[in-house]
Amino acid sequence: MNSKFDALRVLVIDDEQSFRDGPERILTRINFEVQKASNGSDGLKILQDFSADIVLLDMKMPGMDGMEVLKQIMEMERRILVIVITGFATLETAIEAMKQGAYDFIPKPYEPDQLRIAVNRARETILLKQEAEKAENERRMTLSDLHTEKSRVHTIIEALPNGVLVTNTEGQVVLINPAFCKLIGIKSNIGPGKQIEEYIEDKDLCKLVTDISRGKFIDYDDIPAYELEVSGGKFLLAWARPVLGEKGECLGSTVNLMDISAMKVLDQLKSEFVAKVSHELRSPLSTIHEQIALVINDVEGDTPESDQYILTRAKEKTLGLISTIGDLLDLSRIEAGISAKVQKPIQVQELLKNIVEFLESRARAKGQSLILEFSEGTLPEIIADPMALESVFGNLITNAINYTQDGGEIVIKAGLTGKNIGVRIEDNGFGIEEKHLEKIFDKFYRVKDDKTRYITGTGLGLSIVKGIMDSLGGIIDVESEYGKGTVFNIILTVS
Ligand code: ADP
Repeated sequence: MNSKFDALRVLVIDDEQSFRDGPERILTRINFEVQKASNGSDGLKILQDFSADIVLLDMKMPGMDGMEVLKQIMEMERRILVIVITGFATLETAIEAMKQGAYDFIPKPYEPDQLRIAVNRARETILLKQEAEKAENERRMTLSDLHTEKSRVHTIIEALPNGVLVTNTEGQVVLINPAFCKLIGIKSNIGPGKQIEEYIEDKDLCKLVTDISRGKFIDYDDIPAYELEVSGGKFLLAWARPVLGEKGECLGSTVNLMDISAMKVLDQLKSEFVAKVSHELRSPLSTIHEQIALVINDVEGDTPESDQYILTRAKEKTLGLISTIGDLLDLSRIEAGISAKVQKPIQVQELLKNIVEFLESRARAKGQSLILEFSEGTLPEIIADPMALESVFGNLITNAINYTQDGGEIVIKAGLTGKNIGVRIEDNGFGIEEKHLEKIFDKFYRVKDDKTRYITGTGLGLSIVKGIMDSLGGIIDVESEYGKGTVFNIILTVS
């Protein structure tokens, strides 16, 4: 069958010349391609090469009659529409022809309009059939494309080295790949379909995934990465994220699981190395520092001022190095999880008084006022590592002094918030621009602008503070306005 855009083809089989030439003229004018045969067997021969869409077939012909030709055309299994041309007296023949599969009939003699109507109807039928076939083919293609796409995605997910698990809004697992089973240590034949708790033992991770599945987190940035240790000393990192529909609605969650054991080992080796080097450097540096101090005392008044200045600078620099080493050691201890292991009852009031007393001279040297205020009532004791808490407040108050101009004010307020203890360290110093705020707790992050550039530091203090607060289960946050001042708020949990 020819496509919609080609002219349809008609074969006219009639023994009377005028009934061959007449239709040829009419049909060519209305865009058909026409061939003619003067008898049945010639007509069948032409059909071998000419793929006609329509045959106009005279029933009454000498030799092979129309009915026989019709039967043979029908046997060809080609979807040719045959319009039989019958004489007035042969209505029965017409009925018989229709039974044999003819599409239509026209009584002979016929008017040109009768022919046009019959042939145009046949054309409509053919075009409709072509459209339907095309639509069906397209549907089949889409289905098979979908099927191929689905199995391709499936194969990729199955082959991924990272674990992938997908849940629906009920927290039911709808997809789980072999890597997930292997990493988390479950039998791979468990298959999807059960609640998340059947697959993951870690209760907190199950809760996180269930919360995400139910649409509790829509903002990706709010979702923490989750680290877990599984049997065999393996460390895994789980990233769980909501799956959002077109309108932003939550359809479930995906969990991506990675083995980070190697990274952990590397991290540990790095911390051990830093701790070792720092430890080895600390005593010789302290000795150098003490010896320079002695030399300064000895030569006071006897040596030119410029030499004394050089010695004083050398002393300050060694002190800076000693404090950096102290920071690195603190950090190593926190990373090794040691810092919060010494647990003692602590009077936060006393601890703060001592630290403020210790740092007062520093503030005074800059003409700053350092004020410590307690709200009414005594604060309850908390159980923590005193060294760790000293490090927290020491770092925050030292920062407030360092990053506040001469003559500024630093106020430390402590009191109860609910049953916990809240401490607020407020300064009216340089402040921190919004863009830096998120990063100041990162290791080695320092803000370098015109005011802070010349202040020495390591960028480790706040990461130490954050590490300790996390290990204590406390909270720290910061508010700041550039050029106006900064507030660090701390909440220490009272058990
Ligand atoms: P360091 O003080 O050694 O640079 P920190 O980790 O303690 O490292 O602080 C990181 C950065 O945060 C500092 O470099 C400083 O720019 C900024 N910062 C910390 N505390 C304050 C503060 N009270 N006021 C203004 N900036 C601060």
